Amino acid sequence: MAERSNAELIRRDLNVLWHPCTQMKDHERIPLIPVEEGKGAWLKDLDGRWYLDAVSSWWVNLFGHANERISERIKAQIDRLEHVILAGCSHEPAVELAERLVAVTPQGLSRCFYTDNGSSAVEVALKMSHHYWRNSGHPEKLKYINLSNSYHGETVGALSVGDVGVFKAAYEPMLMEPITVPAPDSFHREAGVSWAEHAERMFVHMEAALEAHAHETAAVIVEPLLQCAGGMRMYHPRYLERLREACDRHGVHLIADEIATGFGRTGTMFACEQAGITPDFMCLSKGLTAGYLPLAAVLTDERVYAAFYDDFTKLNAFLHSHSYTGNPLACAAALATLELFDSDDVLAQNRETAALMAEAAAPLAEHPHVGEVRQHGMVLAAEMVQDKAAQAPYPWQERRGLHVYRHALERGVLMRPLGNVVYWMPPYVISPEEVRLLGEVAAEGIDKATRA
Ligand SMILES: *Cc1c(COP(=O)(O)O)cnc(C)c1O
Repeated sequence: MAERSNAELIRRDLNVLWHPCTQMKDHERIPLIPVEEGKGAWLKDLDGRWYLDAVSSWWVNLFGHANERISERIKAQIDRLEHVILAGCSHEPAVELAERLVAVTPQGLSRCFYTDNGSSAVEVALKMSHHYWRNSGHPEKLKYINLSNSYHGETVGALSVGDVGVFKAAYEPMLMEPITVPAPDSFHREAGVSWAEHAERMFVHMEAALEAHAHETAAVIVEPLLQCAGGMRMYHPRYLERLREACDRHGVHLIADEIATGFGRTGTMFACEQAGITPDFMCLSKGLTAGYLPLAAVLTDERVYAAFYDDFTKLNAFLHSHSYTGNPLACAAALATLELFDSDDVLAQNRETAALMAEAAAPLAEHPHVGEVRQHGMVLAAEMVQDKAAQAPYPWQERRGLHVYRHALERGVLMRPLGNVVYWMPPYVISPEEVRLLGEVAAEGIDKATRA
């Protein structure tokens, strides 16, 4: 039997695996972390070292690794029904979860369509919106409006409506062209201007785009309050209030991509709640199963549903499908997740944890090379800048974030900066002591990374 160690698994891995979001050559210098076990907010490698999972395993984990209550629910389901086709068949986990999602999402969302990852949920929302207009006698409404620096996933449609250059550049010729409006991102506001005021000011660009393009536009798609992959950039809910009103006025759908923000991340169950709005489509994934299994859902309303409900011969149906649509195991994980929100007062507990995060990060704001420390609930980011007065970034080629990553690993923390942006997006079960560790490690890492 082969020896079990980090080194041995890394050797085998690099022989056969191709990792996501990775320049594989980097692994000549940057070791992989072979994980064999997780418990709470921690991950253990094959050599027995533990790492605090400050990124919730790519923003999916909510209640810790190997959470007994979620595991039990999946185990019970797996012995009854592992999977069944969802076209023509139904099953209790899919129905119960749809009922629960309709109940917890903003008022008016009444229909749940399942897919199995975030990008495909975005594809569904884009297609449904387009198809709605087509079925309603408006086949000319073909375009989408998005925000600069947005991210909606990496399948071809989802990539088209995103705006993060590194993911998109190579595929540009394959993609649809959205109408891109400058994001209301707090980082770019003038000194002395509040987030709310900045959001108001930035809305003129959206209003102008809607004015010019509403007749040919199916939907506006946004990440409410928080652009994660775009560097944990944040904005004020006022923008969403204005956007909802303007989309209604111009007859354009609003797609809220809550794939990363949903399930308590920004402080409320859904980010849209902070603006008191109901989108026409809400995309959910990531935290939906608390990081256990791939599952996604698109919630929409009766008006949209009705536009597809017709005689078979009209050929109006929404035919989009994935083999694993509504997988019962994934639905069971999601049901356990929602039950945890019910039984434990998760959002109240998170408010305390978020306050501790703010406290632990407060010293970072004083750092001569930190341009902004920002937070929405359980997401906190510190943006490293070369020149604080000018908010000038470090050139990306310098990979300053990588210094923070390496330092954090030495200290037993898995922190993965996005370029110059150091952030924490921990599992909700993180303890006060662990939050303090994040504070220390980020401060040291930023010090190291910005020296010279
Ligand atoms: C992660 C993410 C997606 C894509 O979800 P996948 O499951 O990775 O395909 C889409 N939108 C947002 C806002 C995300 O953060």
